[in-house]
Amino acid sequence: MSLRVGVIGGGQLARMMVPAAVNLGIDLRVLAEAEGSPAQLAATAVGDYRDLATVLEFAKTVDVITFDHEHVPEEILRELVSAGHSVHPGPDALRFAQDKLAMRRRLSELGVPVPDWAEVRSEDELAAFLEDHDGHAVLKTARGGYDGKGVRLIRDVGESTDWFRILDEDGRGGSLLVEELVDFRRELAQLVARRPSGETRLWPVVETVQRHGVCSEVFAPAPGTTSRLVDLAASIAVTIAESLDVTGVLAVELFETTDDRLLVNELAMRPHNSGHWSIEGSVTSQFEQHLRAVLDLPLGDTATRAPWTVMVNVLGGPSAGDLTDAYPKALADQPNVKVHNYGKEPRPGRKIGHVTATGDELDEAAFEARSVAALLGSDISIAP
Ligand code: ADP
Repeated sequence: MSLRVGVIGGGQLARMMVPAAVNLGIDLRVLAEAEGSPAQLAATAVGDYRDLATVLEFAKTVDVITFDHEHVPEEILRELVSAGHSVHPGPDALRFAQDKLAMRRRLSELGVPVPDWAEVRSEDELAAFLEDHDGHAVLKTARGGYDGKGVRLIRDVGESTDWFRILDEDGRGGSLLVEELVDFRRELAQLVARRPSGETRLWPVVETVQRHGVCSEVFAPAPGTTSRLVDLAASIAVTIAESLDVTGVLAVELFETTDDRLLVNELAMRPHNSGHWSIEGSVTSQFEQHLRAVLDLPLGDTATRAPWTVMVNVLGGPSAGDLTDAYPKALADQPNVKVHNYGKEPRPGRKIGHVTATGDELDEAAFEARSVAALLGSDISIAP
């Protein structure tokens, strides 16, 4: 059986697929944006994912194409499919992870709970929404946002002027997404993997903590959940995966509201930061599962390996040196904590690695993981 997987994008997600590919004897190839990418450990071609000829050439070298990010233009994805290449997730699914307005529209049609939202093309339309929502709302660009970029809390229409001006200058008649400011107790994420032939497997729902719009910590499973909440998160994720025909890993970011509802915030159709804990914390990691799923192989068990797993991101600090310089201290401090170094330039606020602790006590695992992240110079106070 030929098992050649091509990943478009050479970031840390592609990098973390490498150990799983090595174990299963999968030939992993990466189309990276530049030399020296985090995924350079795999066979790597360097090229522009927005260039059709480059992507088609890359696709010829593999059996299936998948992704490290959501930015490959839809036209290129459709050309790949027309040329007979196997693309997972396919363009009909991926467009809902590329465009937040398309996603909100589709989920609303499906009856999946989302924050109250509207598409706005002008400051007047935004003003009308604000008036109906106690004068505050969250404004988002439909495309291109990540780590909180393209998300803005609005209390006055004037705070949106620059974004509407960019849309006008663009001349393509674009619009923005505006939604209610959700009064949430906490944020959760439900990951599910789905094969093209239909099998799905869910990991336990996890709690995610964001600082400055960037994920900083994940607790797996989410503490203090009721079986109603667990079942609801699972059924929302499976409904989305099946209705949108998602293949590979789907991450559903959720708000748990103060009145006990779950609302979908975001979708990612690839391994996700909220699933990094699964490398140590689950029988099958999200990276292995993604590879199995896109190859339409049987999915692995998603049971947890420990009562609690805590993942803490390592963000570059102001004077961040090479992460490895801190190893003698950091690794000695908590020998049971696992360090993942993405091999990236440690710019302030940039995700350059993560650490994971597992254990019988949540507080202990959190303490251990945070200690090591701090010793590695992680600085969560800086916005990227
Ligand atoms: P990105 O795509 O950049 O990750 P998100 O849409 O996930 O952006 O928003 C980033 C963060 O902003 C969320 O994790 C959440 O903390 C906050 N946020 C987003 N939308 C809302 C909302 N409607 N109400 C309250 N907080 C929100």
